[in-house]
Amino acid sequence: MNDILPEQTPVWQYLESAVKEVLDAYGYSEIRMPIVEQTGLFKRSIGEVTDIVEKEMYTFDDRNGESLTLRPEGTASCVRAAEEHGLLFNQMQRFWYQGPMFRYERPQKGRYRQFHQIGVETFGMGGSDIDAEIILLSARLWKKLGLLDSVTLQLNSLGSNEARENYKSALVDYLEQRKESLDEDSVRRLDTNPLRILDSKNPEVQALLSDAPVLSDYLDDESKQHFSELTVMLDTAGIAYEINPRLVRGLDYYCKTVFEWVTDQLGAQGTVCAGGRYDGLVKQLGGRPTPAVGFAMGVERLILLLETLDLIPDEVKQPFDLYLAAEHKGIQSDVVALADQLRDQFKDLRVRIHCGGLKNISQKAQQTGAPIVLIVKQADNQQLCGTIWHQNEPAFGLSEVQIKDKISEIWQS
Ligand code: ATP
Ligand code: MG
Repeated sequence: MNDILPEQTPVWQYLESAVKEVLDAYGYSEIRMPIVEQTGLFKRSIGEVTDIVEKEMYTFDDRNGESLTLRPEGTASCVRAAEEHGLLFNQMQRFWYQGPMFRYERPQKGRYRQFHQIGVETFGMGGSDIDAEIILLSARLWKKLGLLDSVTLQLNSLGSNEARENYKSALVDYLEQRKESLDEDSVRRLDTNPLRILDSKNPEVQALLSDAPVLSDYLDDESKQHFSELTVMLDTAGIAYEINPRLVRGLDYYCKTVFEWVTDQLGAQGTVCAGGRYDGLVKQLGGRPTPAVGFAMGVERLILLLETLDLIPDEVKQPFDLYLAAEHKGIQSDVVALADQLRDQFKDLRVRIHCGGLKNISQKAQQTGAPIVLIVKQADNQQLCGTIWHQNEPAFGLSEVQIKDKISEIWQS
């Protein structure tokens, strides 16, 4: 679990505000859920035999002996909250959330025990148009961040529950005959969650799978139709994708469309955004049948990717625009007052004043890296005058009346 230090938070804010602008452009509403839920919620939704529920959850008993869990993902909590507050039945909803998630995994680059997701969940819409919308929304974000060329969209359909059950037995038949070549994990999954074997990172298992039955041959007509409509919409919108018949996702609740945005720039932790349709989950959690589709992106991985590709604008890390200091003692109250006048007059101007010793003040002020540095002093006639440095321009001397005019001129430009 990491501290996110002040030097790093501007990058987070940059990403978060880009995401917020894109979500606003599609008319999505934010929902904020608690970070703990009853353990049963995750067991019932994610599935008992998944990595998350089997070995990754932070679970504890509270003082009443009730089992609680730090949320490992947002979808289950979002469904729970929406159902509890009557936001689902007969309604169409587009929600987003952000915040920390917790999984007891082996920490490594791009994989942490407390990590952050920004997620989107939509409810009440069963057509492929909403699948296309959330994919377009994510693509718009990549474009805005300069990432579109560095990520690839992988797409698959898991079909209906029935289609998946038929496929599962075909896959199990195939793998049972080759059991001696499977690793321990895969053998265990053969009984518990065979589809997850498709997801195996073991190259030998992957080689074995190259001749295995493929899910697309088992799809029901409705899922086939849904998937082909989706690909037409993506083609029309000019969104490139790869169909990956092995893409299954690690959670039980998905059906029909699943997708991942992956990059080859981050090693093994290459999935930056993942999602899919989960039409059965609301009912499974006690609500009325409600189609749903959503995704979650990993904030740490996106930030790693932005940093790896050097895509963070320089100005993002600079926390203030103007550094204001006194040249000599005795006018600190003028400096404090002037700073506040500047904040009043220039709404977005971020002003930091110098506090403390004044030795070598011009030099110190310029070393802050502020785009504008203003050093003021008291003239013989008691008025404030000053010197201003703006980026690479030469120092410029100012009388009291000129100070705000000059800042206005710089700031407007
Ligand atoms: P992976 O296969 O990498 O373990 P996952 O299928 O478990 O991913 P999801 O549950 O789909 O991941 O979560 C969506 C996204 O959240 C992932 O694509 C990834 O970007 C991010 N993510 C998941 N687990 C972690 C983690 N432990 N640390 C950092 N980011 C994570
Ligand atoms: Mg995982």
